[in-house]
Amino acid sequence: MKKGKRIIVVKIGTSVLSEDGGISERAIKNIAYQIAELHGKEQSFILVSSGAILSGITILGLNTTPHELSLTDKQVCASIGQPYLMSLYEKYFREKGIITAQILFTEEDLANQIAYKNVWRTLNALLKRNVIPIINENDAVSVKELLPVNPYVPDDVRFGDNDRLSAIIASKLGGDLLIMLSDVDGYFEVSEDGSKRLVKRIEILNSELMKSAQGKGKLGRGGMKTKLQAAKIVAETGIEVVIANGTKQGIIKDILSGKDVGTRITPATKKKTTHYLLIDR
Ligand code: GLU
Repeated sequence: MKKGKRIIVVKIGTSVLSEDGGISERAIKNIAYQIAELHGKEQSFILVSSGAILSGITILGLNTTPHELSLTDKQVCASIGQPYLMSLYEKYFREKGIITAQILFTEEDLANQIAYKNVWRTLNALLKRNVIPIINENDAVSVKELLPVNPYVPDDVRFGDNDRLSAIIASKLGGDLLIMLSDVDGYFEVSEDGSKRLVKRIEILNSELMKSAQGKGKLGRGGMKTKLQAAKIVAETGIEVVIANGTKQGIIKDILSGKDVGTRITPATKKKTTHYLLIDR
């Protein structure tokens, strides 16, 4: 791989991929086409995409949201929906001549030394071949919601929403930028009179700011709080994070060209190189 090639991790929330309560093929096509246009000599992409459960809901014709499902039904819907979700990404990326790969994680995978090393090796080898890895939590086997505190899993690898998972990927792989897309424009500061203001830039993610982040996403597991927690993990390793609205046309291009969109969280420290990075960049 060419020296200087940047690695961009893009987390895509369920809300970005939804339309009329179901999964939107049009939205997936739009994301795939946007990334395909940018993927190449200058930068490589890794996607962390939610939407498996909503895809399963759509296929089964259920009139519900992911939040309303029992754990088993979430796992059933994810098992049905994940291959469908992936088939749409694969179709639209292939139309643009790009090969995709699927990787499904559980937190145990990242807590197990051997599995852990294999994951990074595989990811790096995929990037070397210019493949776009598309990652999701392996909801069908994940026990996160059954065992919220698993003493055998270190804190920094525990996840249960893709915000955290994308942060772990970006930081351990030594990515250059993490873009977290949902259907909100970024982090909003709420004044005493209740008015809201989009915060364009955050330099220090202090505890006050973390506490003030409210709101759960309508469809996904995360919300602004989990996004800021994830951003903290990443910013501590010196990687910039942008939280933005993925339903806006051309948003990824706008972010990469430095346009004033979303909330940019600038790293507290200079980027640290990690030993998980095996590719020559
Ligand atoms: N893995 C879940 C899915 O694909 C989403 C988890 C999340 O919302 O962060 O539906």
